Amino acid sequence: MDTGVLVVGAGPTGLLLACELALASVRTLVIDKRPKPHRESRALNLHPRSIELMDMRGLAGRFLAAGRTVPGWQFAVSLKRPLDFTALDTRHPYALLLAQARTEALLAERARELGVEIRRGHEAVALRQYAGGVETEVSGPGGPVVIRSAYVVGCDGGRSFVRQAAGIGFPGTRETMTAVVGDFAVADHAHNERARRNGVLVSRLEAGLTRYVVMDPRRIRVPSTEPVTPEEFRSSLVRVCGSDCGIGDPRWLSRFGNTTRLAARYRSGRVLLAGDAAHIHFPVGAQGLNTGLQDAMNLGWKLAATVRGWAPPGLLDTYHAERHPVGHAVTTGTRAQTLLVELPLTEQYADPARHLCELLDTLLDIEDVNRHLAGRISALDTVYPPTAPDADPLSGRRMPDIGLTTAAGPTRVHELLRDGRFVLLGLGGGQPPHTAATPASSARARGVDAQGHGDHPDLTDVSEILIRPDGHIAWATRATDPRDLHADRAGALTAWTGAC
Ligand SMILES: Cc1cc2nc3c(=O)[nH]c(=O)nc-3n(C[C@H](O)[C@H](O)[C@H](O)COP(=O)(O)OP(=O)(O)OC[C@H]3O[C@@H](n4cnc5c(N)ncnc54)[C@H](O)[C@@H]3O)c2cc1C
Repeated sequence: MDTGVLVVGAGPTGLLLACELALASVRTLVIDKRPKPHRESRALNLHPRSIELMDMRGLAGRFLAAGRTVPGWQFAVSLKRPLDFTALDTRHPYALLLAQARTEALLAERARELGVEIRRGHEAVALRQYAGGVETEVSGPGGPVVIRSAYVVGCDGGRSFVRQAAGIGFPGTRETMTAVVGDFAVADHAHNERARRNGVLVSRLEAGLTRYVVMDPRRIRVPSTEPVTPEEFRSSLVRVCGSDCGIGDPRWLSRFGNTTRLAARYRSGRVLLAGDAAHIHFPVGAQGLNTGLQDAMNLGWKLAATVRGWAPPGLLDTYHAERHPVGHAVTTGTRAQTLLVELPLTEQYADPARHLCELLDTLLDIEDVNRHLAGRISALDTVYPPTAPDADPLSGRRMPDIGLTTAAGPTRVHELLRDGRFVLLGLGGGQPPHTAATPASSARARGVDAQGHGDHPDLTDVSEILIRPDGHIAWATRATDPRDLHADRAGALTAWTGAC
């Protein structure tokens, strides 16, 4: 075997997945067909749950230092009022404006620190599964090579070769509208406010560049396969907002559409999919890259446990069971948002659609409405299905990053997750301190006793919690009798961290 896991694609999803596998001591190789990392950036932001993931691995400082935070994000770009993330229960109640190229550079840096090899200029061109592994034929600068690995993960974007080679369907809906994006060096920003008022999305990037995203009613039916010319971009800007905003030569121009697809399965034998290889949609709500990072975090520890031979039965299949519904919610949710973008641009519905958007804007003033939609877009409300019928209602939910007082001093939940192991958290209440129960689990779960639960309303009465490496709650109990507690805990540890 050449490597434990071959990750195809060094985009954000593949890089974070490689970090997670390497953290769990799995030999990991990443290949990417591009000789160099992308210079241009499609995505420009990280949402709160993605920042929390970085925090769990001690990376939030690097990411926050590289970008700029804003208090919220737009639900559908045709609504005027942005979602307010400050209402959410998180230490990171903001969106981080950070160009995708920077996100990828930070993740690649971390992957290298963890010993991951990244081979650029290497394209996966054929793939064959056999009983004990996968053979992938890779075309590289030195000619074709075959890489044998226990598993392959396709993180190779929307046109995923891996998905096709594994015979996984990609059903969905076809493109009905497109938009154009362009990055320009702009000396005078006086026109930007007017452009924004007219529905152009304007973002200041690094190195003096400004991004404009234009949805020109006369051009939204042009297929995304048709290249954008600087002249087209300029005349669309003038048509939409009455000025060309002083743009010069473009650094990057692209046209993108609302084709929406979701892989039928996230796993076929020893081949798995994550990120855009598994789901694509219009970038409204800015969820694509963020969802890919969250796929990677869910898959990493499960695949590592499988490769290392201690995964409880069925663990790897919970990746599809947990993440496919999230992919479904994101793709249907972005279709709904896209309709709110598309209708005001179509002659027939423009007028009522504008009224609908105004109405929705008034609804966003209601705190609960804001919290509900912000929870969805930020991915803080993601709950995985319970694994047992009698599971505590906390099971599957995201563990809040509460402050804790332990024998070693003050800490918080996300700090305890740095090494990617389970955390078995005793929440005091008079029990004697414990360490992580069974011999098999003690290496995979860290036992921590804390005094109190930071007064978090969801944790009242909870005596112990088993937190998964991805920050979701595996198991929780409210038992206080030491014998019940011991039996429950031992059962949970065996179910989650393996019997051997
Ligand atoms: C205009 C625009 C704006 C966007 N804005 C946002 C935003 O603000 N927030 C957000 O969350 N998302 C946004 N997105 C979506 C986001 O860019 C994608 O969801 C994200 O790039 C997906 O990451 P990934 O790692 O899954 O795939 P990719 O970034 O597509 O990476 C796939 C990698 O695989 C490599 N590859 C492909 N085939 C092979 C092969 N056969 N062998 C080896 N390597 C291969 C490619 O070279 C590439 O590097 C936006 C998208 C667009 C178009």
